[in-house]
Amino acid sequence: MSKDSTFSLRFWGVRGSISCPGQSHQRYGGNTSCLEVRCGARLLIFDGGTGIRDLGQKLVAEAPLDTDLFLTHTHHDHIAGLPFFAPFFDERNTIRLLAGHLAPAFGLHQVLCQFMTAPLFPVPPQIFAAAVTYKDFLAGESLDLGDGITIRTAPLNHPNGATGYRIEFAGKSICYITDTEHVVGTPDQNILDLIKGADYVIYDSSYTDEEFPSYIGWGHSTWQEGRRLCDAAGVGTLVVFHHDPNHDDSFMDQVAQEAEAARPGTLIAREGMVLTP
Ligand SMILES: [Zn+2]
Ligand SMILES: [Zn+2]
Repeated sequence: MSKDSTFSLRFWGVRGSISCPGQSHQRYGGNTSCLEVRCGARLLIFDGGTGIRDLGQKLVAEAPLDTDLFLTHTHHDHIAGLPFFAPFFDERNTIRLLAGHLAPAFGLHQVLCQFMTAPLFPVPPQIFAAAVTYKDFLAGESLDLGDGITIRTAPLNHPNGATGYRIEFAGKSICYITDTEHVVGTPDQNILDLIKGADYVIYDSSYTDEEFPSYIGWGHSTWQEGRRLCDAAGVGTLVVFHHDPNHDDSFMDQVAQEAEAARPGTLIAREGMVLTP
């Protein structure tokens, strides 16, 4: 077992819905969801949005790679970068893909084949040279990854389903809760149970409370609901995440100011930002 207890998380994509690489989005970043988590010598990846391409370029130097790649769900913004993740094309690598929102109606391998298929995409997943495996679990299960790493999960309220994650390592915990829609006035008990006492909670904050009524049914939440959940569950730090592409840098600066006033220490996720619980 590894004695290294370094626990860190780096954001490679913080945006929701669609990438937005324009100049007005450069400070927070325009890539869609992707997180790199290091637990000692182990590498975990969460989501394969467009941000995973840049992560993949960095990981080329780390081959042979052995990694677990967890998907919150398979909407485009969370898988669009997968076909461009360089480690898939190196036969020395072992990559385990996992998702908790598909079984029993669908399977992760089947869904990825439907995504990388003619006439929507030039090559199928069979093009990957790495040893790639696909695992479907049921959101709500706990996964023991060995080396002292436990992943707890919960189903989220999102069209077609999504999985919330809690990563526990070296006595610390980080939760990754996206994509999810709240019901006004009724805190989501699944989320409260999962995030209880966590050091960091990364939360789907696509909208503000003021915008929310116009987007009911789209499957997303607000930074204010994130604050209410974190307060109720005794969470250390809220991290605002899955920024709406319509929210440019100056809008996000304003959110940062209001969130800091409402819950001091609240962070706004940016590409390149690192959390070390
Ligand atoms: Zn999303
Ligand atoms: Zn989604």
